[in-house]
Amino acid sequence: MKRSGYWLKRGILAFIAILGAAQMNGSVKPKRSKKDMSALITISSEKNIPEWLRGTPVGMLLAIQNLGARFTLSASQLPPLLIGTCMDYRISLKIPPKFAFIIRTAGANMRDQDFPIAFALSTQKVNAIAIIGHTECGMAELNDKKKAFVSGLEAALKWTPEKAGEFFDSNVDQFNIGTVVPFTLQETVRLRSQFPGVIIAPLLYDVSNGKLSVIREKPALPAEKK
Ligand SMILES: [Zn+2]
Repeated sequence: MKRSGYWLKRGILAFIAILGAAQMNGSVKPKRSKKDMSALITISSEKNIPEWLRGTPVGMLLAIQNLGARFTLSASQLPPLLIGTCMDYRISLKIPPKFAFIIRTAGANMRDQDFPIAFALSTQKVNAIAIIGHTECGMAELNDKKKAFVSGLEAALKWTPEKAGEFFDSNVDQFNIGTVVPFTLQETVRLRSQFPGVIIAPLLYDVSNGKLSVIREKPALPAEKK
């Protein structure tokens, strides 16, 4: 069964979109390069939500977070979504009660999370996953942050320079995500391969305004071309 449109087809979706104030709150535009902007699909109205995500739990998340939409799902339909995102304190998702499993790791790195993801997919009602990277992630380009990290360990924790340096060096490869957008895409592709048939969407959270974008994929998914 085609997952896209799953919720709508079953007629289980009650949708009340509250637009207006939430949509036009005059927030400051995030500073991004042209290249970054082209990699993102901004969601400022319902029509911006890619077709392959409309009517899915990911589409609902986008509408709730960015457009102030509200959904009513019955207890038997919950939870529909698993969210994998970063531990960063600035990420504030406006999800309704019991709407989603949330795995938070440094850098939204899901490499060691296949077992808990499989749990949510197999024994719960989850049929969609949102992988949410974010702007200004501390785990991005981690090698560039060694000096601050190590001196912080020395100052805050009274570690010796040797202990701090060795600690950083022995962990950096495991936690460094490089560049956020490509990494989030890479994790999405990996998870799709591991969990075929599940809707898995790469998103970006902007810590400057609390909005989600969809990371554009090239080439477009078959579902996107329709
Ligand atoms: Zn982060």
